Amino acid sequence: SSKDGGRGRWTVYDPKMDEERETRNQMEIDLRGAIGRDEIEVVYQPVVDSKTFELVGVEALARWTRRGHGPVSPELFIPVAETSGLIDQLGLCVLRKSLLQLQEWPGLKLSVNVSPGQFRDPAFVDHVAYLFRETGIDPARVVLEMTETYFVQSPERARLALERLRNLGLRIALDDFGAGFSSVGYLRQFGFDRMKIDRSLVQALERGHRAVEMLQATVALARSLGIPVTAEGVETEQQAVILRLAGCDQLQGYLFGRPQAPAEIASLMQRPMELRAKAAELAFAAH
Ligand code: C2E
Ligand code: MG
Ligand code: MG
Ligand code: MG
Repeated sequence: SSKDGGRGRWTVYDPKMDEERETRNQMEIDLRGAIGRDEIEVVYQPVVDSKTFELVGVEALARWTRRGHGPVSPELFIPVAETSGLIDQLGLCVLRKSLLQLQEWPGLKLSVNVSPGQFRDPAFVDHVAYLFRETGIDPARVVLEMTETYFVQSPERARLALERLRNLGLRIALDDFGAGFSSVGYLRQFGFDRMKIDRSLVQALERGHRAVEMLQATVALARSLGIPVTAEGVETEQQAVILRLAGCDQLQGYLFGRPQAPAEIASLMQRPMELRAKAAELAFAAH
């Protein structure tokens, strides 16, 4: 306890806070080591056409198995990477691995998540350009996903960065739409190439009309701006039907496949009939 006996809240010594800081520091140290040893892995989640359920692409998602602890959620280690300056290296490592992987998957598109912090590195766009030259991947096959925080925080810098990425031929998606403030203004202002609807909105669909109406309004808005829409976190056939009828052209979620190892994606490419049969069933059910 503090010297004033704990009466002034601001001087209270909280051992739990020290503990949390310690835990975070240790995670940062371990993450730095893991990145250095190239232990960050990338898994790929299928993205399908909402009408045919054909595999159109994959989203690359980072995975870290922490020594002595087991798998750590990206919801935990990505923020640690962001606040400790590790995100540049981690982000480029994920991009490089997934571009190399894409060489083996002709015909598929790739989405990769980018954190706002990666733009603070003035050389970021040059690094990205280099990776495309190195791997020979056509940038038109790749979508960079970003959440709105960046566009809210520093709109001018964001605009410039997006312009430079677009000049390379890359597409930009607004990730997690509907999860935060989701300003309509930003959607218009930055001319995104795709909108991804957050899974919180998708998973509310079966809970009532309100959510369905909100979804319909959101998709209608995007379409009026000419922006195609992917829905994330699709877990049930009912959700898939609602989303397709609302006008989403792409779907992603456990219904179609979890994030998975490259070999599993390869076998999914060899048996697309399963998903197509499911699509036909759903089309029938929707009538
Ligand atoms: P995100 O980009 O919005 O990715 C979608 C998340 O939803 C993934 O979580 C995915 O596993 C999960 N998901 C997909 N379908 C379903 C479903 O049907 N049900 C449920 N409950 N969840 C589903 P994940 O892999 O844990 O990643 C969480 C977040 O971490 C990502 O959200 C992204 O913001 C961030 N992230 C992951 N990898 C990277 C990376 O390489 N770089 C950066 N900057 N961020 C990353
Ligand atoms: Mg994403
Ligand atoms: Mg998302
Ligand atoms: Mg997210």
